[in-house]
Amino acid sequence: MDRRGFIKSAVGAGLLAGMPAGCNSQLAKKSVCGQRKATLKLSCQEIRFGGKDPLAEKVAKLENWGAAAIELTGKDLPNRVKEIKDAIKGTNIKVSAVCVGYKGSIISDDVEARKNAAESIKEILAAAGELGATGLIVVPAFKKETKLDCWDARGVLVEQLQELGDYAAKQGTRIILEPLNRKEAIFLRLLADAAAICRDVNNMGVAMMGDFYHMNLEETSDMGAFLSAGKYLHHVHLASALRNLPGQDERSFIDGFRGLKMIGYQDYCSLECHIKGEADVEIPKSLRFLEEQWRQATI
Ligand code: MG
Repeated sequence: MDRRGFIKSAVGAGLLAGMPAGCNSQLAKKSVCGQRKATLKLSCQEIRFGGKDPLAEKVAKLENWGAAAIELTGKDLPNRVKEIKDAIKGTNIKVSAVCVGYKGSIISDDVEARKNAAESIKEILAAAGELGATGLIVVPAFKKETKLDCWDARGVLVEQLQELGDYAAKQGTRIILEPLNRKEAIFLRLLADAAAICRDVNNMGVAMMGDFYHMNLEETSDMGAFLSAGKYLHHVHLASALRNLPGQDERSFIDGFRGLKMIGYQDYCSLECHIKGEADVEIPKSLRFLEEQWRQATI
């Protein structure tokens, strides 16, 4: 068989792009993994509002704008559980994810520092579980937080995630690993790497996410990255190329949204970005822009 014939038969058998046998572009309309139809559930980080408005007011605004959830910082979360429960009570707004806020790095080269980070993460996980959050976003190490090379760091991370994953699952939530771009982290920059770590840990309390801002700097294809993430993907951050609101520059989300539709994505897509202009005007405009991009992301 010549090269062209091989490629033709490979496509026919669904061998390209790691798809299951028989899953070609036509079957992808149903979704690559044959899962449920994806839905776009939009969320926004609490800190994007700025100011000192009560949480309940921010929640009311999000509900008015048609969002599904709010993302919170892990900092001080254990002391805010009642405030948060009261603010979302009787609304359609859920807690999407909890973003970092713990102390230190779980892949620090200092063993004591690793233990402290794990304890701090556990405290936030307990609160995140009580609030019904998808998970706690964990960056294994920001730049300069560890002297370990990537090989050693991976081993330490996989080992740590066994215990932390068990703990997270017991709280009814997850650790969600976030890959960053090379200006912010040395270790863990690709969604495929994060997914491979989840596969090796093999713990239902350990998952990963993608952030469109970092992906724009590190990935060759948004769709390919989400296909690589597959079942391990449980959160998405939304930001434009310049880390502003989606729609405030030329960054397209259509290719990535195609990937989310193909894996039958069920979790939240949350705004983590700067806002040019008035939040009350620009956030709802951005949500409408994202809904339109989702509609255009045909598979
Ligand atoms: Mg992010």
